[in-house]
Amino acid sequence: MTHDEAVLEAREIASRVLAPSAGQNDKAGRFSAEAVESLGESGLLGLLLPVDFDGSGLGPRTFAVVTATLAEADASVAMVYLMHILGSATISAARPSAARALTPILQEIGAGRHLSTLAFSEAGSRSHFWAPISRAHRNGNGVRISAKKSWVTSAGHAQSYVVSALAPEGVGPTDSTIYLLAAETPGLSVAGPWDGLGLRANASAPMTLEDCQVPSDFQLTDDGAGFQAMLNVVLPLFNLGTAAVALGLCRAAVGGTTSHLKSARFEHLGQSLGESLPTLRAQLAAMQIDTDGLSARIDDLIDHLEKPRETTMLRVLESKAAAGDIAISVTSTSMRICGGAAFSKHMSIERLFRDAHAGAVMAPTGDVLREFIGKSLLGMPLF
Ligand SMILES: Cc1cc2nc3c(=O)[nH]c(=O)nc-3n(C[C@H](O)[C@H](O)[C@H](O)COP(=O)(O)OP(=O)(O)OC[C@H]3O[C@@H](n4cnc5c(N)ncnc54)[C@H](O)[C@@H]3O)c2cc1C
Repeated sequence: MTHDEAVLEAREIASRVLAPSAGQNDKAGRFSAEAVESLGESGLLGLLLPVDFDGSGLGPRTFAVVTATLAEADASVAMVYLMHILGSATISAARPSAARALTPILQEIGAGRHLSTLAFSEAGSRSHFWAPISRAHRNGNGVRISAKKSWVTSAGHAQSYVVSALAPEGVGPTDSTIYLLAAETPGLSVAGPWDGLGLRANASAPMTLEDCQVPSDFQLTDDGAGFQAMLNVVLPLFNLGTAAVALGLCRAAVGGTTSHLKSARFEHLGQSLGESLPTLRAQLAAMQIDTDGLSARIDDLIDHLEKPRETTMLRVLESKAAAGDIAISVTSTSMRICGGAAFSKHMSIERLFRDAHAGAVMAPTGDVLREFIGKSLLGMPLF
């Protein structure tokens, strides 16, 4: 699949599968299995995988456009897709000794029949996902893990979970190891419902690991090397992907607001809202300016990821922090412009507004990112 083909597939799925049911799935908090099936059939689940595993071998540029396109129709599905891409990238980057055991899983992902996700955040360390409280304990040819994972997107729907835990002999709080758990692993279960303010259709429920046995073949990183994988493999793609979700939400808000300003009328004045009120036109323009600014920021991040340089990590940190704030600001303005119609849920704007609030609280949160950026500018250690 080429970049252009992937984008066309994403557009087709967004309009045929996602857009018609996004509102209802949001209301019911229903995970869209049809969306995942369509993404699998189209080849988009294997977007970044090497061609050896029937993946498309594409990069961050295509990933960002595909994710933003999905998010414009349904941010819940876009987040499921994003977490899957991160899970599969982590599996694909596993240490060589796991290659034989992981090949069938990567082939299943390439064939579009396997959804993965990340289970990093824990109840004990909250948003500080880089510091798991759980610890793996050696047991024969592998480890046993017990953990309380506080939010796992696609919980109960994924075929595998990429899980962090402190390494058996880890000394510091970031001495973690990353493992892969098949969905059917005894002791792995969904621990409660997902009833969030936004992204209600992505099943981000808590999960429990109770004495789960993980064979050494399913240890993805060396002991204690989990933190490096989180920084080098997961963080850049996660921050790019959440920024792309924010961009999709902003575009949907601009589109929905524009339609409303054209169609809603002051009949007593014989004008549409947009024709009648310069203040609404100015606010719509501000939304467009912020949306295009975010798009340019994402392009700049992609350029940094394609051609890594000294400023790349700074851009990675900045992009998610900025995107979270912009999505909240643009969708808030949209709520104000669309007034009672938006407030009364006569249009999809309030779903976008609720969904937009997830980006800033997903770890690394906007606050943590600003803290990291400030510390790094001052030459202070980040951890
Ligand atoms: C929709 C959704 C999907 C998710 N999916 C997943 C998933 O698939 N996998 C996964 O592992 N996790 C997932 N998470 C968890 C997420 O990444 C965070 O871990 C979680 O939202 C943290 O919430 P908390 O209230 O426990 O954070 P807390 O740590 O309690 O944070 C509370 C507040 O303190 C601030 N804060 C915390 N530390 C600092 C600091 N050092 N400096 C400044 N401010 C700070 C935060 O910004 C926040 O405002 C998901 C969360 C959501 C909402």
